[in-house]
Amino acid sequence: MNDFPARAVVDLAALRGNVRSLAAHAPTAQVMAVVKADAYGHGLVPSALAAVDGGATWLGTAQVSEAIHLRRAGVTGARVLAWLYAPGAPLRAAIEADVDLAVAARWALDEVVAAAREAGRTARVHLKVDTGLGRNGLTPAQLPDVLAAALAAQAEGALRVVGLFSHLALADDPGHATVAAQAEEFARAVALVEGAGARLEVRHLANSAATLTSPALHWDLVRPGLAVYGLSPVPQLGGPERYGLVPAMTLEAELATVKPVPAGSGVSYGHAYVVPGDTVLGVVPLGYGDGIPRHASGTADRWGGPVQVGGRRLGVAGRVCMDQVVLDLGPDAREAAGDRVVLWGDGRDGGPTAQDWADVAGTISYELVTRLGARVPRTYV
Ligand code: PLP
Repeated sequence: MNDFPARAVVDLAALRGNVRSLAAHAPTAQVMAVVKADAYGHGLVPSALAAVDGGATWLGTAQVSEAIHLRRAGVTGARVLAWLYAPGAPLRAAIEADVDLAVAARWALDEVVAAAREAGRTARVHLKVDTGLGRNGLTPAQLPDVLAAALAAQAEGALRVVGLFSHLALADDPGHATVAAQAEEFARAVALVEGAGARLEVRHLANSAATLTSPALHWDLVRPGLAVYGLSPVPQLGGPERYGLVPAMTLEAELATVKPVPAGSGVSYGHAYVVPGDTVLGVVPLGYGDGIPRHASGTADRWGGPVQVGGRRLGVAGRVCMDQVVLDLGPDAREAAGDRVVLWGDGRDGGPTAQDWADVAGTISYELVTRLGARVPRTYV
């Protein structure tokens, strides 16, 4: 029995529906649901299974251990690609678990080849090329040599080059010249790899934003993450409803304390908020220890992160603490300890969303859901 007075309720039907919407946005491509970082905080295995139910034929993780975990948990209905690892990663276990591996550096190719030989299996490899993100991946200058070495290993049966992929730096700004430049660089890389004789099963470039806004970048496979969970990767262009998405996570808690206080009472550390008149305070038992951003604190002239309580929308009063935030429920408050508070959800009925919290905290909705603390139980409906 988990008596933690808050939970993230994940609506797996919404998640399945989001994958279906994404597939409809990219009708000529397969969908890889990106489930790294514990499925953006939603829970790795249940989210992966729902995504596969919704039509994802691939799952993507960053860490190799996440991909192996999926297989060991019995997720077999989709190909799984892991793309980020350092020397010494459990590549043999990954190959034995039927995981596809990215190769983003020469040492990685050597380790994949060694692991495949040890396992007596043929590794499936996706070359990752850095077309301009300036992060993990082979530079276009490194690609020819690594490709040649990969094709030599392929001839020996140690691996098969099945994929080529890259990641966009400014997909959320679809008209930006960098998007076009990366698209061109990627097309050059495809031509080089295919020209060298590799038979690529999947060429992939598009994250959520490109899946929703840039059909020309879909290639054979799209790799949405955020949109799988129903959040908009381009909030400046439109919310989830514009793209047929429904936020899957509702973060809710029970009020721990409700108490009257007189005018002039300071609230929370630093007394950043002082109640202007007699009022009733409510304590929500979630704080930065649970991933509630301290930057979403309230101040004297601004409410903090939004919540819905008793059908009303309020903002956090004063500073976000490690385990709690405080609400000014007003002098006529009818709430009692144990009443439900929603911090973020699907936004229906005027309720707050993770995007609303991101706006208050000066961050992105990705960070809100992904950083939700491990002690907050996830429940599934
Ligand atoms: N592909 C790669 C290589 C990634 O690193 C990520 C996440 O950062 C994604 C796809 C999914 O991105 P998004 O959540 O913006 O759809």
